[in-house]
Amino acid sequence: MPRKLLGDYPVSLLLKLLEIPGSSSREKPVLDVILQEALDAGLPQDAYCFDQAHVKAKHGECGNLIIKLPGTRRGPRRLLMAHVDTVPLCLGAIPQLGGDYIFSESPRTALGGDDRGGVAVVLSTLVRLLHEHPAHPPLTFLFTVQEEIGLVGARYVSRGKLGQPKYCFNFDGGLPNAIVMGATGDEHLDIVIHGKASHAGSQPENGVSAVTIAGVAIAELYREGWLGKISKPQGEGTSNLGIVQGGAATNVVTDLLEIRGEARSHVPEFRAEIVEQIRAAFERAALLVTNVSGESGQVDFTHRTKYEAFRLTESDPVVAMAVAAVQRAGLEPLPKISNGGLDANWMTSHGMPTVTFGCGQEHIHTTSERLHIPSFRQACTVAWELATGAG
Ligand SMILES: [Zn+2]
Repeated sequence: MPRKLLGDYPVSLLLKLLEIPGSSSREKPVLDVILQEALDAGLPQDAYCFDQAHVKAKHGECGNLIIKLPGTRRGPRRLLMAHVDTVPLCLGAIPQLGGDYIFSESPRTALGGDDRGGVAVVLSTLVRLLHEHPAHPPLTFLFTVQEEIGLVGARYVSRGKLGQPKYCFNFDGGLPNAIVMGATGDEHLDIVIHGKASHAGSQPENGVSAVTIAGVAIAELYREGWLGKISKPQGEGTSNLGIVQGGAATNVVTDLLEIRGEARSHVPEFRAEIVEQIRAAFERAALLVTNVSGESGQVDFTHRTKYEAFRLTESDPVVAMAVAAVQRAGLEPLPKISNGGLDANWMTSHGMPTVTFGCGQEHIHTTSERLHIPSFRQACTVAWELATGAG
């Protein structure tokens, strides 16, 4: 017999989840608690499985946790999901209640409401279903790993284990009435610049500096508006060169520099144009910077899609169901498009269009992160409506 639920079960569950360390690829302690909580509530042993996302990704200690309940009424399967990992800044967080908020007692850590808030919404919904036995269609609960390092769990999720859900809902964000129907796409850039080493004091003219090549390219990209926020007649996007590594000594002309960056846009064609502009600028710069013998450097430029952009419309059935659930929860639906990637990007790419809701997160990925409890409770109401409400 499952134990009785306390009136404030969702919030006490959230506090319990926030205490567990679980950065990306090290999610096992969190998944253990999620599973135990569900089993304690009466989840049958054969109702859950883990997939092999971490094996496909070649890193991590656990795959995604998938829990399936048969329907107690007919209807297409619905899926509720959240990611269990948190950013490294959350390690050592001590959740504290204060007024309408939960925050971390330690001023040096973030809280981890991103996305333990979403996990608590989804898990408390499952536990409540197991206690109250309302009529509901077939349901899948998906707890993903490695979201914060590039949506890895959702990317490698085992589609065959999900039970072919028709309507998918993700909880990860701030406002519980926000209905995120689209998100940007992200391209990863690797730029390796090969110059030519020489003694920087006695023969600098014989060298080709990889740093100078990078500088020339970056100056041009900055001048032409292809770095940072990009706004052109043909499109909008962003780019960033976030990691620059190279050089071993001040008295050597640097012969190798490695740069890692990204380019984002909601429009795949425009994102490709940003990538092309960056590539062309580095190749031009490599030709421009020469040594006394006329030798130039060389650029190896590679890129890969981290996740593709998606855009649902108000007429998509999953959006219509999201809107109806928010209204039944007594809230005003607020359609939104995100400039960050979400597990929903990969779910949608896998053929499972996914709407994302908030769950009270504020100031995520910073030491002032906190979680707004009234919004979290409203997200629980929305989730309940999604799980049990009319289709
Ligand atoms: Zn998140």
